[in-house]
Amino acid sequence: MNIIKKKAIDMMERKLSRTGHVLEVRAWDPATFFEIDLHLPGLNMEKWQSVQHMKVKVGDYAYRDYTPAMWDAETHTCTLLVNSSHDGPGSKWASSLKKGDAILYLGVGSTLHKPVEDRSLLCLGDSSSIGHFLALQQLAKGKTEVYGAVSFSEVKHMEAFKEYFITALQPVLEKRWDISLLSWIDEQPLEDQCIYITGHIPTVTELRRHIRKREDFSGTIKAQGFWA
Ligand SMILES: Cc1cc2nc3c(=O)[nH]c(=O)nc-3n(C[C@H](O)[C@H](O)[C@H](O)COP(=O)(O)OP(=O)(O)OC[C@H]3O[C@@H](n4cnc5c(N)ncnc54)[C@H](O)[C@@H]3O)c2cc1C
Repeated sequence: MNIIKKKAIDMMERKLSRTGHVLEVRAWDPATFFEIDLHLPGLNMEKWQSVQHMKVKVGDYAYRDYTPAMWDAETHTCTLLVNSSHDGPGSKWASSLKKGDAILYLGVGSTLHKPVEDRSLLCLGDSSSIGHFLALQQLAKGKTEVYGAVSFSEVKHMEAFKEYFITALQPVLEKRWDISLLSWIDEQPLEDQCIYITGHIPTVTELRRHIRKREDFSGTIKAQGFWA
């Protein structure tokens, strides 16, 4: 990175960055997935009506987006659910966190995903999407149903997901990226659902294309790629 870009980032960090603290970290087995409980004082969560994302500092001049889930506006707490199965600064950051650590973030912004009333919400994505779908479920609570499938590369993570969360989202085992979610959706009747697809960008594109071809589908698709 050139010096001008570094200086611009330094200035942005000084102006915009906010601090939070890690309350607890829970590693799943194997430890390539983390639940990170955060205290974010001063962050107003009361008005969240769509799924949010926060830009977190994960290293020198390195930022990654993560989804605040299971938030409690009163205590200013939330949980990040981070896949760290690969080699990247975000992965390393998540794996290194301990209770009491400070985290820096550049603020929290809305995504375009929010519940649509009177429609069932069908979610499809890999495990980097868990926070996103649980956030959608929290926003939809008491209004409409959230269901769908989340793909995992570890059988033990599928078991953990079923045990830890109360959700109608089904874990499916990844064979190759696109295959498991494509097979799952092929088994589902489609009508006028609102379908949310997130995670691995090529898979998001493939799933959207596949669903659009279905003659029984008359709903809408909201897609957001996370990583490639
Ligand atoms: C709006 C938004 C919300 C997001 N929310 C979350 C979230 O809640 N939880 C979460 O885990 N991620 C989330 N992401 C993705 C996250 O921002 C990072 O892209 C991801 O964690 C990878 O960062 P990294 O630095 O570890 O790897 P990178 O340096 O970006 O990539 C390194 C290598 O790892 C591969 N890779 C990246 N991610 C994965 C993965 N999940 N599984 C397998 N291989 C991978 C890449 O293909 C690349 O080859 C979100 C992204 C966006 C845009």
